[in-house]
Amino acid sequence: MATYLHFAPAIALAVAIGSRTVGWRLTLAGAVFAVLPDADFALVTLGIDRYGGPYGHRGFTHSIGFALALGAFGALWAGPGRGRQLGAAAFLALCTLSHPWLDGLLDRGICNAWLWPLDDARICLDWRPVPMRGVPLFGMERLRRELIWIGIPLVVSSLAAVWLRWGWRRLRTAAPTMPARTVARGAKAFP
Ligand SMILES: [Zn+2]
Repeated sequence: MATYLHFAPAIALAVAIGSRTVGWRLTLAGAVFAVLPDADFALVTLGIDRYGGPYGHRGFTHSIGFALALGAFGALWAGPGRGRQLGAAAFLALCTLSHPWLDGLLDRGICNAWLWPLDDARICLDWRPVPMRGVPLFGMERLRRELIWIGIPLVVSSLAAVWLRWGWRRLRTAAPTMPARTVARGAKAFP
C-alpha cells in the first residue's frame, strides 16, 4: 500500500478538472473513497477472510467492480440532474480506482483482484516502478519515495491540465465571432 498519498489522486483529478465542475464536497468524498479500499484490513483482522482471499487484503475492495459500485453509490448525493450524477459517479469511481492502481505500481505486496466478482485471481501490473522493497510501512523514507514517485507526477499532471484548460479558454474567448448580419451579407455575396 502507498501509506501516505492514496488521497492525492483525488485532489489532483479535481484540480485538473476544475472547481467549477468538481466542488470541494465531491473532492473530499473522492479523497475518502480513494483511501477506503484499505478498510479490507479490518476483514482480515476480524478473521472474515485470510490475507490473500477474495475478501482479504487487496481483494474485492481493490477491484474495478468495487470502484464502479462505489461511484454509483456516491452519485446518489450529487443532487438532481442525470449529467451531474453521471459526472459525480465517474469522478468517484476514478478516485476509488486510483487506489489499486497506486498499489499496483509498487514493487512489493500482494497483487489486486482487479476482476472481482468475475474472477478472484490476483493480477499484477507488468509495470511496477515504485521501489518500496525493504522500506518500512511508515516513516520518512516511505514518505520521500511516495512524494518522488507519486506526489511530483500528480502535481505536474494536474498543473499541466490546468494550463491546458486555461489555454483552451483563452483560445475560445479570443476566437472572433461573426455577427449574424455579416453572415447574411456574406450569404448574398457568395450564393
Ligand atoms: Zn490498498
